[in-house]
Amino acid sequence: MSVASGVDACDLLLDGGVVITIDDEKRVIDNGAVAIKGDRIVAVGASVELAPYRQNATRIVDCGGKVVMPGLTDGHTHLFQTLGRGMGDGLSLVPWLRRFMFPYAKTISGDLAVAGARLGALQAALSGTTVVVDNHYGPTDPSTTLAVAEGIESVGIRGAVARGIFGSPNRGSEIMGVAPELFPWTNDEELAITKECIDTRPAGSKVEIWPGPENVVYVTPDLIAGSAELAHNAGVRWHMHCSESSSEVEFFESIFGMRPVAWLAQEGLLTPRTTLAHAIWLDDDEVSALGENHSTTVHNPISNQYLASGVMRLQRLQSAGANVALGTDGIAVTGQDMFEAMKAGTLLHRVHHLDPEATTVEQFMEIAAAGGSAMTGIDAGTLTQGCLADLIVVDIDKVRHTPWNRPVASIVHGGRAADVDMTIVAGEIIVENGTSTQVDEDEVRAAATEAARQLIAEADLSGLTQGWFSPNVNQ
Ligand SMILES: [Zn+2]
Repeated sequence: MSVASGVDACDLLLDGGVVITIDDEKRVIDNGAVAIKGDRIVAVGASVELAPYRQNATRIVDCGGKVVMPGLTDGHTHLFQTLGRGMGDGLSLVPWLRRFMFPYAKTISGDLAVAGARLGALQAALSGTTVVVDNHYGPTDPSTTLAVAEGIESVGIRGAVARGIFGSPNRGSEIMGVAPELFPWTNDEELAITKECIDTRPAGSKVEIWPGPENVVYVTPDLIAGSAELAHNAGVRWHMHCSESSSEVEFFESIFGMRPVAWLAQEGLLTPRTTLAHAIWLDDDEVSALGENHSTTVHNPISNQYLASGVMRLQRLQSAGANVALGTDGIAVTGQDMFEAMKAGTLLHRVHHLDPEATTVEQFMEIAAAGGSAMTGIDAGTLTQGCLADLIVVDIDKVRHTPWNRPVASIVHGGRAADVDMTIVAGEIIVENGTSTQVDEDEVRAAATEAARQLIAEADLSGLTQGWFSPNVNQ
């Protein structure tokens, strides 16, 4: 840290907190400070070192009793599913899709999807998430896709709408039982619509559009390749569900005679722009291929436990060189809460390996922040001079966190989304005192509640809303 001599001006000085930098030296600074000017961090260090900024700060926030840390990236979510909160619990993946999500996704209108996306994005912002990668697949016409992006931006956060691409029905979609209504466009139309959306929100937009071929099993190989090519040409990433359940790998093998990631590697489709959600069922060669190509795999530990999909080979992927980001997989599964995901991920691998040293809290905080930035190419995920000022202030001045002997452990094991006091994106305070400064929360909630009522009636999903649901009885 070097504080420039002379006049040190800043717009915002976060002063006196525990600063968890996730910088190159992994500094955790007791009584630290962060100075922000415009959309960038201009200085990070001990409060006493940043004292010169106090004279020329437009605003000083006393962060005593608080942690200042990088904002979190939710690397895989489905904001439009927010209207289904709590529904579908107790079903495994394929019944979950067939009985809940496919009827939901094929019925939901653009207006209802946007109402759900706004609610989900609001919850993300309030939970300290500064970036979401939203795999949006219902409905995916250009105006709804772009309206979802606007909905995310309206709450002040960054992100990408990975536009769900299905293309023409095929053998994989038959085997998976995907609703035919989810395939309204041909392969060519899918790519043209996605390109049109990317042209409106090109690379570098606060919320980008990415191609999102929905699943390696039920999107045809040429359309997956076309999606990757489109992303490459547009300078954005692309995103796909891949090898989430063992049955999906078996389906793929039964059609194509090889494993999904092995096929992606063979076709040259694994690059740093490739971001795969889940990537659980991988053999050793597939792990190596993801590592050699520095592709991203997004770990969704809560979703993977909720649907009992399996446990990602986290250590192997990281040591092979793959980037790992962390995701929630959407509110219809669990919650738009990256604090839950950090804790669940930390614990999941310990019990899976029967080894408490299998993970560390630091590892999961880094995945949630820096892993997400590597995935999206956003210059954040660390509190380092010159980086984007995307950061959060978390209140640990609570009985639950006392004494905060080891702040990273306090945050990962004891932190909750409700502890987030302030969310800052590009130097702008978008959440203050735990409340959005960008939107009327009551209005967003009321619109989503009404949208959910309509959708449940139209999609005939009331069987999944019973007070005491039993998956075997409510067929
Ligand atoms: Zn998903």
